[in-house]
Amino acid sequence: MKTVGFVGWRGMVGSVLLQRMQEENDFKNINPIFLSTSQPGKVGPIISGTIPTVLEDAYNIEILKSLNIIITCQGGEYTKKMFYTLRNSGWKGYWIDAASTLRMKDDTVIVLDPVNKHIIEKGINKGVNTFIGGNCTVSLMLMALGGLFVSNLIEWISVSTYQAASGSGANYMLELLRQMGALYSVVSKEINDSSVTPLCIEKKVTQFVRSKDFPIEFFNVPLAGSLIPWIDVDIGSGQSKEEWKAQEEANKILGFKRKILIDGTAVRIGSLRCHSQSFVIKLKQDISLVDIEEILLNHNQWVRVIPNNIKNTVHELTPTAVTGKLIIPVGRLRKLSLGNKYLSAFSIGDQLLWGAAEPLRRILKLLVS
Ligand code: NAP
Repeated sequence: MKTVGFVGWRGMVGSVLLQRMQEENDFKNINPIFLSTSQPGKVGPIISGTIPTVLEDAYNIEILKSLNIIITCQGGEYTKKMFYTLRNSGWKGYWIDAASTLRMKDDTVIVLDPVNKHIIEKGINKGVNTFIGGNCTVSLMLMALGGLFVSNLIEWISVSTYQAASGSGANYMLELLRQMGALYSVVSKEINDSSVTPLCIEKKVTQFVRSKDFPIEFFNVPLAGSLIPWIDVDIGSGQSKEEWKAQEEANKILGFKRKILIDGTAVRIGSLRCHSQSFVIKLKQDISLVDIEEILLNHNQWVRVIPNNIKNTVHELTPTAVTGKLIIPVGRLRKLSLGNKYLSAFSIGDQLLWGAAEPLRRILKLLVS
C-alpha cells in the first residue's frame, strides 16, 4: 500500500479534497500521513474509520523522502521552498500539487482527466512524476466548453470571469463574511425604520466602507457591496497573471501546439464559492445551436446545458445552485448579433471541486492503482 503525505489539508482546497476522498472511499487504498507547516505535533484530521494521528512537520525532508506520493494544497510558497530540495535529495516519488508554481514546466503534466486523460497516461508511461492541478477558471472553462475545443471549432475566446472569494483561500472567504456582517451592522436599525430614506442608508454604508474601520486585512480593499477587477499579479503588459493563464494553461492541458487565442478580464466578486465565466466565442464555422448543445453534452458526463430562458437561468445558473456540486452548467447559449459565428455562453463551476480538488483526487487514485 502506498504511503501518501497530505500537506495543506486544512485549507479550502485541502479540506474539499479530504471530503471528496472520504465520499469516494479513497482512503481504504492508501496509508495517509498528514503534515503541517504551522502545527506539527498537533492532532490531524478525523478520517472516517481511523484514529487521528499526530501531524508531521511538512518541512522535514527526511519525512518527505519516506513518502511514495506527496499531495500538496499548501500553496506556491511551500512548493518553491520544498519541491527542488526534495527532488535534489534524490526523491523520485509522485508530487501532486494545487499551486501554479510548476504548471508550465516542461516536465510536468497539468491534470484534468475528462479533458486530457491521453496526455496524463502518456506522461505516466514516459516517467513523469509531477502532476499539477490547473488554474480553477481554466479547468472549469475546459470542462464546460471541452466539446468545442476538441472538435476544433474555436477560433478565439474572449472571457470575463466572476470569481468567488474562496478562490483566494480560507482567510479571504472569512474576510468577505466579516465585511458582509459589518455592512449590515452599520445600518441594522435604519433598514427597518421607514422614516429613513434608502439614499441615507446607502450614504452611511458607503461612508463606512471607505473608512479605516472596514475590515480589509486580506483583500486590501472592500469586496462586499463592491467588486475587484484584478486577480493575481501584474505581468507587466497590463494583463493580470490570472488572465495570462487562460490561454497558456488551456493549450498546455489540451496539448495544442497551435494555440487557440483566449483573453479577457478576471474579476473577483462577492460570492463565497463557485467561479462564473461569460464567454464570447468566435467559431471557425457557422454551426447550429442544436449541434453546439449536442457537442457540449457529449464531451463529459458533468456538463449540463441550461435552456436560455429566464426561469432556468436564474434558478440553475448561479453560484447558489452549483456550490458543492460536480455538475458544470452552461447556459445563455445564443448567437450574438455580431454574426453567426459569434457564440455567447455563460458557465458556472465549483472551483473547489473541478477547479481544484477533483482533478487532484483523480490523479492520486490513478497513481495509486
Ligand atoms: P488556503 O485556504 O489559504 O489554505 C492553505 C494553507 O493556509 C492551509 O493549508 C493552512 O496551512 C493555512 N491557513 C492559514 N489560515 C487558515 C485558515 N483560516 N483556515 C485554513 N487554513 C489556513 O488556500 P487554498 O485556497 O486551499 O489554496 C491552496 C492552493 O491551491 C494555492 O496554491 C491556490 O492557488 C491553489 N488553488 C486554489 C483554488 C481555490 O479555489 N481556493 C483553486 C485552484 C487552485 P497550515 O495548516 O500549514 O497552517
